[in-house]
Amino acid sequence: MIRLERVTKRFGSNTVLDNLDFSVDAGKHVTLIGPSGSGKTTILRLLMTLLKPEEGTITVDGDQLFPAQEKQVREIRKKIGMVFQHFNLFPNMTVLRNITEAPVTVLGLSKDEAEERARELLEMVGLTEHIDKHPSQLSGGQQQRVAIARALAMRPQVLLLDEVTSALDPELVAGVLDVLRDIARSTDITMLCVTHEMNFARDISDRVLMFDQGRIIESAPPEKLFSEPEHDRTREFLSAVL
Ligand code: ATP
Repeated sequence: MIRLERVTKRFGSNTVLDNLDFSVDAGKHVTLIGPSGSGKTTILRLLMTLLKPEEGTITVDGDQLFPAQEKQVREIRKKIGMVFQHFNLFPNMTVLRNITEAPVTVLGLSKDEAEERARELLEMVGLTEHIDKHPSQLSGGQQQRVAIARALAMRPQVLLLDEVTSALDPELVAGVLDVLRDIARSTDITMLCVTHEMNFARDISDRVLMFDQGRIIESAPPEKLFSEPEHDRTREFLSAVL
């Protein structure tokens, strides 16, 4: 579903991703872990076409992202949902409208269809009673659950999650992770997550990739990577965060 081949990304003289190869098969859940600044978020931003690689190819569902016509890129982007660290909800819209906006304007759903979809998703994330509120009237955890519902409303094939609990107060983290565990269990969406929540990574991942300085230094199923890491750097990182 997602394939990166020999991808290099530089910012000036800083090589952030160094000749990187990896893929995520359809329906699988892959988690990226590693120290701050190792290039994890950059991968998600490349997949969202917010950045361009200097070298290499990136394909999503068989379609190449760079180079691609703008129209093709728009079609590929429709397959990808992303949830950010800082929610990025539209502050002037209600919860309902935050979720229905893109399905109506981008996918061409009728208002009724989009609202029906939004209500189902709000039930799934446990926010039905907040449907008419604005984001500023919700806690960070509730806002993040709206952001998850908004991403799912586009029926994406791929969900990218970028440290979605890092900006939350500790007591709000569990509610958001429970929603994501539920999605991982009950849908066939391909998931690529960047997270510092190692228990969550252990629960949902088919494979965990350990990053260091723009390279994958270890890739293994979570039960192997967390209990018998092969690389010293992985052991060091895990003992600092676990
Ligand atoms: P964290 O866990 O802290 O979010 P990360 O592994 O996700 O870290 P990235 O955000 O991908 O790391 O950043 C990798 C490197 O790229 C860092 O050195 C960062 O300073 C640099 N970088 C990221 N975005 C830009 C940019 N737009 N311009 C210049 N340098 C950037």
